[in-house]
Amino acid sequence: MTTETTGWSDRFGHTMMRTLATPQVMLARGEGCYVWDVDGKQYLDFLAGIAVNSLGHAHPVLVDAVSAQVATLAHVSNYFATPPQLELAERLTRLTGAGERGRVYFGNSGAEANEAAFKLARLNRGNGHRNRVLALHNAFHGRTMGSLALTGKPMMREAFEPMPSGVEHIDSTIEALEAAIDDHVAALFVEPIKGEAGVLDLPEGFLERARQLTEKHGALLIIDEIQTGVGRTGKWFAFEHAGIVPDAITIAKGIAGGIPIGALVTFGWASELFSRGQHGSTFGGNPLSTAAANAVLAEIERAGLVQNAAVRGEQLRQVILGLDSPLVHVLRGQGLLVGIGLSEPHAHRLSDAALAEGLIINAPNESSIRIAPPLVVGDAEIADFRERFGRALAALGA
Ligand SMILES: *Cc1c(COP(=O)(O)O)cnc(C)c1O
Repeated sequence: MTTETTGWSDRFGHTMMRTLATPQVMLARGEGCYVWDVDGKQYLDFLAGIAVNSLGHAHPVLVDAVSAQVATLAHVSNYFATPPQLELAERLTRLTGAGERGRVYFGNSGAEANEAAFKLARLNRGNGHRNRVLALHNAFHGRTMGSLALTGKPMMREAFEPMPSGVEHIDSTIEALEAAIDDHVAALFVEPIKGEAGVLDLPEGFLERARQLTEKHGALLIIDEIQTGVGRTGKWFAFEHAGIVPDAITIAKGIAGGIPIGALVTFGWASELFSRGQHGSTFGGNPLSTAAANAVLAEIERAGLVQNAAVRGEQLRQVILGLDSPLVHVLRGQGLLVGIGLSEPHAHRLSDAALAEGLIINAPNESSIRIAPPLVVGDAEIADFRERFGRALAALGA
């Protein structure tokens, strides 16, 4: 063991902010769908940095694009345009379907994309009467003050009250939405599959009804695609499954394969709301992060990885069901965002057992397992998952 990795757990506990629990493993490198810890143990990574590493680890396309860009022009500030930034903005208006009337704002994270979307909502004032913002109970939108105000988890907000005002959380039902919406609503924020809450699906028809009602009342429909976007659910964006067109979406996690970036994409009239000087970010949309995103998105298109997410997602579900474990109660999510609802509250024990078997999965709460492999996953990795996950279940006697 090298000196840099000796006693790392204690060092982590001493110097890292107490916001983080000390992890069980320190990782050193990755390749494809695998990572290795500092002791050389190999893990199958079926979390992909929480749906971030779309191309897996150390993909040559991403390595080459980032290396070339950092050697050319990494950052210039938003006083200047750069070719990768413009290319990415055009690519995103095309892939989202926002088209000619679409516009893009770049930040550096999911939370920042949602901050921009929150400010967009504030600009939809009508005659000054629109002061309500609706969001869903249990939805996660980020940890900065604005995105936290949108987040429907009181436990996360409590210590930091007061929040920016005007946000109301409603149940994720069509009835609750119908009861809550009126002409004072500036925006409705929706997470199409609640990832952090345990990969929870919306009720059938919710997005369609949300589109009708927001349109009728002049409210923006803003879809948080930070976890579900960029091919993850078997479509480029999860809203496409509902056949609707939103007013805005936020994107981050999977877009640049691990290089930090976030984006707000507006559609139609929502593109007219922001005016000069109303928002900005020093790093946002710099040539390095946008070149990374261009490379990742181009590779997703070239290699047909959106389709792969749909096919592999189905295959993965069959494998999980085929293990025939009494602990597996129900499968949720879409494509390669898979939630397992457990019959007993052993999610942390199960993810720990998986880790011991060299498999990275996630327990967002005691009754749910979240699985989000890289979009490049193939037959060999799914077969390996079957082995490792089967052993983890067996270790729990399940
Ligand atoms: C991860 C996530 C965020 C926050 O993104 P950060 O990059 O962590 O700020 C917001 N919304 C959803 C749906 C997410 O999954």
